[in-house]
Amino acid sequence: MSDLFRNIVKLPCSHCGNYTYIPYTASDVIDAVKDGWSSYGAALYCPECSVTWAERNDGRTLQSSIHTIQLIDELHKGQ
Ligand SMILES: [Zn+2]
Repeated sequence: MSDLFRNIVKLPCSHCGNYTYIPYTASDVIDAVKDGWSSYGAALYCPECSVTWAERNDGRTLQSSIHTIQLIDELHKGQ
């Protein structure tokens, strides 16, 4: 695995299948959360699907930013 690949993490949306690659740094991960990436359990959602998530899930709310950051850390470890 090259250093370049090791420092990139793929964010896949569990709803629409969209994905993006971001540098795996604290500030880029925080920016992804600020941009609207969110999560529930082991599922990650893109900004568009995060907005409509509550409508599709009986008004439940998505999990915290911290949960999303931890999930992105796990995705990076597992890739
Ligand atoms: Zn999506």
